[in-house]
Amino acid sequence: SSSRNDKDKEANVQVMVRCRPLSDEEQRLNVQHAILCNEQRREVTVLQSVIGRQLDKAFTFDKVFGPRAQQRSIYEHAISPIVHDVLEGFNCTVFAYGQTGTGKTYTMEGEIRSKSGELSADAGVTPRAVRQIFDTLEAQKADYSMKVTFLELYNEEIIDLLAPEDSSRSMEDRQRRPISLMEDGKGGAVIRGLEEEVVYSANDIYGLLERGSARRRTGDTLLNKQSSRSHSVFSITIHVKEGALGDQELIKCGRLNLVDLAGSENISRSGVRESRAREAGELNKSLLTLGRVITALVEHSGHVPYRDSKLTRLLRESLGGKAKTCIIATISPSAHCLEETLSTLDYAYRAK
Ligand code: ADP
Ligand code: MG
Repeated sequence: SSSRNDKDKEANVQVMVRCRPLSDEEQRLNVQHAILCNEQRREVTVLQSVIGRQLDKAFTFDKVFGPRAQQRSIYEHAISPIVHDVLEGFNCTVFAYGQTGTGKTYTMEGEIRSKSGELSADAGVTPRAVRQIFDTLEAQKADYSMKVTFLELYNEEIIDLLAPEDSSRSMEDRQRRPISLMEDGKGGAVIRGLEEEVVYSANDIYGLLERGSARRRTGDTLLNKQSSRSHSVFSITIHVKEGALGDQELIKCGRLNLVDLAGSENISRSGVRESRAREAGELNKSLLTLGRVITALVEHSGHVPYRDSKLTRLLRESLGGKAKTCIIATISPSAHCLEETLSTLDYAYRAK
């Protein structure tokens, strides 16, 4: 029945909020706290009174993590069930959304490996997901194959973070080489020219992650803080052999996309005024379209505007339908960020 369908769909989009602690610098400067997180009630309250407004504003989400929440706890409560679904053959996407400096990259990536090469206590969602995937497949003694891609979307252009090093081209040139996105005729997308790495161990993936992230950071200084204006998409595709039906092999296929979005200040009014017009416009497109796509999915409206941006075209097969989506909205506790925080919470709330 349709009501059951609606319920299933609703459960397919989860929205949570994570508030980072004040930094040492902010504490030294006595920056005021403007956020209260109630994890039990899944509620975030913006204390507008600290900037002289009368009413505090409360928002409820699927989950709320306060400043003391550890990487491991967020993973276990929020992400581990999603990775379980990926291994059952679902496509899932985790997004980090929020103002620059609020902990998107810390939440998604964190410190990947400690010096001993083990998973770090500060490891974020991506390395922990990789660990869970390999641990599960090995415990099941599964017959599987796995490949990963890692790309950056900047100004609606795709940059391959795993492209082979090519010393004859400059870093800037190489990073800006465009890659084309084609429709596959079945509602999905094919990215032409993107490196797909076959991986055999968690360490293989950690190596690729470190390589790709280092490139993203190098681009940062060259290209004017590119990472705050670009989206990064790390995707793991897993094929698990399930046996055979006659002479047909049964294969279960799941994909996990882990997305570190551009800073949300780029779609709020102050950000747009400061950035150059075209760039702001293009960034607007992917972040705003993502918001509209998710709203359309949550409200079950007929038309989902996937085609309106590269990011949503790219992730189309992993958004909507049976796919599961998780948005982690990251916020700062600081009173100085209150306007941006309100705009992040509004965006996230609309996706709920
Ligand atoms: P973003 O990617 O959103 O721009 P970052 O992940 O780079 O933000 O975080 C900004 C700074 O704050 C980094 O130094 C990061 O280590 C720190 N940070 C962010 N979130 C947390 C957290 N929950 N706990 C401790 N430090 C954090
Ligand atoms: Mg970042």
